[in-house]
Amino acid sequence: MSLFDLTLPAEKAAEYGAAVLYDEPMSAHTTFKIGGRCDMMIKINCEGLLRELVILCAKQGIPYYIIGRGSNILVSDNGLRGIVLLLCGDFASAHIDGDIIECQAGASLGAICSLALSNSLTGLEFAYGIPGTVGGAVYMNAGAYGGEMKDVLLSCRCIDENGEIRTVPREKMELGYRTSIFSKKNYCVTSVALKLQKGDPAAIKERMDTLMSRRKEKQPLEYPSAGSTFKRPAGDFAARLIEASSLKGLSVGDAQVSEKHSGFIINKGSASFGDVCELIERVKDKVYSDSGIMLECEVLIME
Ligand SMILES: Cc1cc2nc3c(=O)[nH]c(=O)nc-3n(C[C@H](O)[C@H](O)[C@H](O)COP(=O)(O)OP(=O)(O)OC[C@H]3O[C@@H](n4cnc5c(N)ncnc54)[C@H](O)[C@@H]3O)c2cc1C
Repeated sequence: MSLFDLTLPAEKAAEYGAAVLYDEPMSAHTTFKIGGRCDMMIKINCEGLLRELVILCAKQGIPYYIIGRGSNILVSDNGLRGIVLLLCGDFASAHIDGDIIECQAGASLGAICSLALSNSLTGLEFAYGIPGTVGGAVYMNAGAYGGEMKDVLLSCRCIDENGEIRTVPREKMELGYRTSIFSKKNYCVTSVALKLQKGDPAAIKERMDTLMSRRKEKQPLEYPSAGSTFKRPAGDFAARLIEASSLKGLSVGDAQVSEKHSGFIINKGSASFGDVCELIERVKDKVYSDSGIMLECEVLIME
């Protein structure tokens, strides 16, 4: 039973034919496989519904949370009160116009990388293997292996705090290391235009395969996680500092600093939200006392 009256959002979702789930375990929607139940989850299927829900929630004082693939979040075991707006598979169409790919925010990065490959478009190879949605990747300005979303973005459509739809060109996105105007202002990204270049499909595929092999070799992909737990501190690497503090393998319950890559905290089975939070704090404290560097979390906590 929610503290909030969720009747109107449920009716709105029904009007648009969107799926509504009640008491849904968030552990089923996060790559960490951690998180209690949310009161209500609506699987967004179009921009119009999302806009109406954002406005409705603001008007009725109902908290809401936008999530994509849940690959960069840690959700409390108490779950989430209010509504989770899931921008994923039901909001994932894409099309190509020359060297521009336009897609809805819920499209998976993997699918868009494959679409680029099948149309001989280069520039997005760096993102192959990042297990998020395009909207989540823009919000985070996700990056890897020398590339970042900033390099390929042309423009985005988003919903601002007043429920207005805006088109934001790349120059106005304030893209920095794992940050964007969307994360600073809590705008919801609804669609994204990526500008790529014509390339050689064999070379594109080779680069994608190489980067995927590198991930499999270096990262603990066999365990649930949310990727790199900490941001890269200026002039150093979180994993190097964590190893230098002899924290590799440190565990709290089933949460562990990965033995394969110390920058990842993994869930070895039934890690709780509290286990991961306590491990994060222990790592930060020890690294700070050894090096004077305070690590900052890249993983976003939702509670
Ligand atoms: C094994 C593994 C490897 C990873 N490797 C990398 C890597 O190499 N580089 C990297 O940068 N990241 C990496 N990540 C982290 C993660 O995949 C990225 O940050 C990804 O971009 C998050 O997308 P998501 O859809 O899962 O977002 P979520 O985790 O669902 O959400 C993340 C944040 O974005 C917000 N958000 C999501 N969608 C939208 C939207 N449409 N509009 C507005 N806000 C939105 C959410 O509210 C939340 O605050 C990795 C994660 C894992 C598990």
